[in-house]
This record gives sequence, structure tokens and C-alpha cells, in this order.
Amino acid sequence: MTERHVVILGSGCAGLTAAVYAARANLRPLLIDGHEAGGQLGLTTDVENFPGFPEGILGPELIEKMRQQAARFGTEYLAGAATAADLSRRPFRLTVAGHGEILCRTLIVATGASARMLGLESERRLLGHGVSTCATCDGFFFKGKEILVAGGGDSAIEEGTFLTKFASRVTIVHRRDSLRASKIMQDRAFKNPKIAFLWDTAIVEVLGKDRVEGARLRHLKTGEVVEKKIDGLFVAIGHTPNTRLFEGQLELEKTGYIVTREGSRTSVPGVFAAGDCQDRVYRQAVTAAGSGCMAAIDAERFLEAEGH
Ligand code: NAP
Repeated sequence: MTERHVVILGSGCAGLTAAVYAARANLRPLLIDGHEAGGQLGLTTDVENFPGFPEGILGPELIEKMRQQAARFGTEYLAGAATAADLSRRPFRLTVAGHGEILCRTLIVATGASARMLGLESERRLLGHGVSTCATCDGFFFKGKEILVAGGGDSAIEEGTFLTKFASRVTIVHRRDSLRASKIMQDRAFKNPKIAFLWDTAIVEVLGKDRVEGARLRHLKTGEVVEKKIDGLFVAIGHTPNTRLFEGQLELEKTGYIVTREGSRTSVPGVFAAGDCQDRVYRQAVTAAGSGCMAAIDAERFLEAEGH
């Protein structure tokens, strides 16, 4: 079985940037796509904050360009997801359904994070058409619009407050009667005249055929169901880093994010991490790309130090 210099797990912005750099370093990386090829950018519509595209670019188009760029320098792609990883000795061993075991000297983990969703069919269908999980990415498109934000933690309050820059009104819909968010952020939100709250309320359906036009809401104490006219829904009920495969093998934060030190190094020498699986703070395409570049350079130097 051949042993790869570098295997990259994940085909979002971080993984693809790592692939561009590793390929240009002549390391012939193998990139394993993962469950959601293209990562979160693949689920976005217009991206207006990625430098170099003054007119903006569609998320899936940006990802496709990155794929082509990485392929041009010799990246190989494998469609599929790793179902097991053994990082206890080198070469590291990955199992990919339908492709057996893959051995590698270094591994770049760029498995991303998935926004938690409410789990409604209508929410999934209208994602990118008024339903969003990223206020920084999509807030600009809601100038003068009426928005609901689902959640009661720091993310919901932060996103809701940010969205008041654009929206005419932001209503935070929370399933309980008190917020989980930090006191200081709560106070700021309570003072903001553009923010309203709906307590003890669940969003049971997002309404609209091609775009969000409203939401059906149920009061969880009285059972009363009402429909509210809205232009957008931001789901901010947390993110889950896709790191389950590495539990017990890599040092993880309590929340599941991979701990990195000195750039992209993880607790296992030869394993590097990039993008949202190790970043709970910035979570932007451009920061994911930057950390993917760091991981590839760190992997290259690691191999060099070993005499490869
Ligand atoms: P979080 O603290 O886990 O809060 C998630 C919120 O969503 C909770 O209010 C929860 O309700 C609600 N929720 C969860 N699942 C739901 C569902 N299925 N339906 C309806 N509501 C649901 O997540 P987060 O706000 O993303 O924060 C994650 C971490 O990042 C936290 O440690 C936070 O402090 C940190 N963070 C910090 C900042 C900052 O300091 N600027 C900003 C963002 C995030 P319940 O309250 O009922 O559980």
C-alpha cells in the first residue's frame, strides 16, 4: 500500500487552500472530500467579503475555482468520507468507505464545522434564499428588511445585534424565557430599539415558495400558533465542529474544537488542523483559507525535518 506524504481531510476553503500549497510544494496531496463537498461555502450564495472579487462571487463558484487551482498543481481528489482514523502510530491510517485504508505521513484535518439547524424541511429548502446561518456573510442582503433570529446564546445575540445595522427590525425567537447569552451582551440587546424578543417560542415552519416570506411560530406554554411576515431567518443555535473521528486521539476543547499550537500543530506530531474545525472565533472563509495555507507549510516543514 502506498504511503502518501500528505492527506487532507475536507474540501472547504481550508482544505482546498492547504491542497494548493501542498501541491505547489510537490507533495502530491490526496484530498478526501468529506460528507459535504465544498463545506459551508458550498451552501452560501453571494460571497462579497473574500478579497479579490470586487463584484462578489457565488460560494459554490469560489469553491470550484479553488478545486481547479489545487488540481492544476497535482492535487488528487477522492470522493467519500473517512469513517475511521488511527493516529496512534505513523504512518497514520484512514479508512474511506469503498476505498479501503489510506496511509499517510502527515495529515491535515480541515473537516469544518456544521451550523446546527432547527431540523425543518422548509428551513433546509430555503437555505440561501432568506434562511442563513451567517450574519457576517449575508446580513448585507437584508437592508431595511424584517428578520427573525433563532437562538438564545451568545451567537444569536451577537448575530441579532450585528443584523440591526441592516435590518429594519430583528426579532430574536428563543425557546425559553431567559437567554443563555452573557449578561453584557443581553444588556446591549435589551437596550437596542431595533431588537424585539419572542420568548418560549419555537419556529415550526418557514413560509415561502422560492424565498422566505414568513414563519409559523408556536408558543410553547400556551400552544398558540401564529404566522409572522418576515424576509429572513438567521439560525444561530450553535455550531458543531466535525471532529468526532478524532475524539480520544487529538486534544479537543470541551466543545469539540481541535486544540492547535504554534500555528496549526495538534497534539499529535504530524497532524495539523485548519479552518472551522479548530476555530470557534472567526469562522470566515478568508481565515479558513489562511489557516489552510499555514497547515500545508507546517506539514511541508515537518516532512523536511524528517528528511523527506
Ligand atoms: P450555545 O451557547 O450553545 O447556545 C445555543 C442557543 O440555541 C441556546 O440558547 C439554545 O437554547 C438554543 N438552541 C439550541 N438548539 C436549539 C433548537 N433545536 N431549537 C431552538 N433553540 C435551540 O451556542 P452559541 O450561542 O453558538 O455559543 C457557542 C459558544 O461560543 C458559547 O460558549 C459562547 O459563549 C461562545 N460565543 C461567544 C461569543 C462572544 O463572546 N462574542 C459569540 C458567539 C459565541 P437553550 O438556551 O434553551 O439551550
